[in-house]
Amino acid sequence: MRTCDPDAYRLLGVPVQATDALIRERYLALSRTFHPDRAGGSAEATRAFQAISGAYRALSEPAGRQAVDRELAIREPSRFAEGSGAVRAAEALAEGLGRLGVKRQRLPAPSRGRDLRVVVTVPFARAALGGDQPVQATWRAVCGDCGGQGSHHPSAEPDCHVCGGAGTVRVGVRRLSHRCGFCGGRGQVLLRPCVGCAGSGDCEASREVLVPIPPRCRDGQLLRVRGQGEAGGGGTSGTGGATGARGGGEPGDLIVDVRVSADPLLQIEGDDVVCALPLTLGQLLRGDSVDVPSLDGVQRLRLPAGVGDGQELRIAGRGLPRPEGGRGDLRFRVQVDVPSLAGTTRDAALAAWQTLEAAVGPQGHRRARRFAEAVVARQGDGDA
Ligand SMILES: [Zn+2]
Ligand SMILES: [Zn+2]
Repeated sequence: MRTCDPDAYRLLGVPVQATDALIRERYLALSRTFHPDRAGGSAEATRAFQAISGAYRALSEPAGRQAVDRELAIREPSRFAEGSGAVRAAEALAEGLGRLGVKRQRLPAPSRGRDLRVVVTVPFARAALGGDQPVQATWRAVCGDCGGQGSHHPSAEPDCHVCGGAGTVRVGVRRLSHRCGFCGGRGQVLLRPCVGCAGSGDCEASREVLVPIPPRCRDGQLLRVRGQGEAGGGGTSGTGGATGARGGGEPGDLIVDVRVSADPLLQIEGDDVVCALPLTLGQLLRGDSVDVPSLDGVQRLRLPAGVGDGQELRIAGRGLPRPEGGRGDLRFRVQVDVPSLAGTTRDAALAAWQTLEAAVGPQGHRRARRFAEAVVARQGDGDA
């Protein structure tokens, strides 16, 4: 083979911008695969091994590589397009080689992990009293299986046959550069994509964080939890925040956007929690004890004698925590549940009711009687 072979890059499956370290790494990987001792000594394998060795001889010498580049620049200038995906791919590969133990060309500066924002629904009572809320923080992290390369053997993956490893193709009359649609700009075709990330190079990472919810937390409130965001640069999937970032910068913060779930029975008024309490006439007259909801679970409330519709009952110290200490009250607004008489039971119920009214007499319905008397008095005024 000639020492100046413009296909030397293709034979090694590297972009023309490849670093010396990458060329050497790729050569070693390919020569291991096609070495006559390992490939069974077939004629094809031997020819491939000789071609690979020749290509490496050409590219490993500065003078030889310059000669290859000069001839290639005339035949295929597009392969030297600046800013092509291949440059980035080459950088990524060089970094990947560093992870594999090959000396790195350039260490990336540690970077702080991004802040993560997560919307969290907090139960009503926990938002009111405060407490720990488990929150799942998820983000896209560099795949830990392949170090973000998308392949377990990135140096052994072949060049994309559509773009020749450049990551870009020139199309149309004006020869505009476009990202290669076949390899997505990577410049390589992944024959053995990483199992962990299916070749994408990143995967979902998550961790459960116990977020301390402050008392009296409002709907829409933003809480910042330091160091529980995305892992810093160099962090990989499964590593956690402040303690888990490997070789990278500070982890980001977790921003919790609180949604307080409404309670169907309880509402907040100032420092107090208020609840409408429908009661039957019988419960009121007997002075029963009833189960009532509260921030602290179900409570037993004894109805005092003589309590009526519209009155308020109070359990002290079961409302919201006050900033100055102590708690507001839990208040119940009594609503008499007037029976609805319908269907087959209507006549029997009405007969019983009339018996009750007769027994109670006009004194038993003081408000109704006073109202009727006031209207009568008004009629008398009008007649006068
Ligand atoms: Zn992977
Ligand atoms: Zn391509």
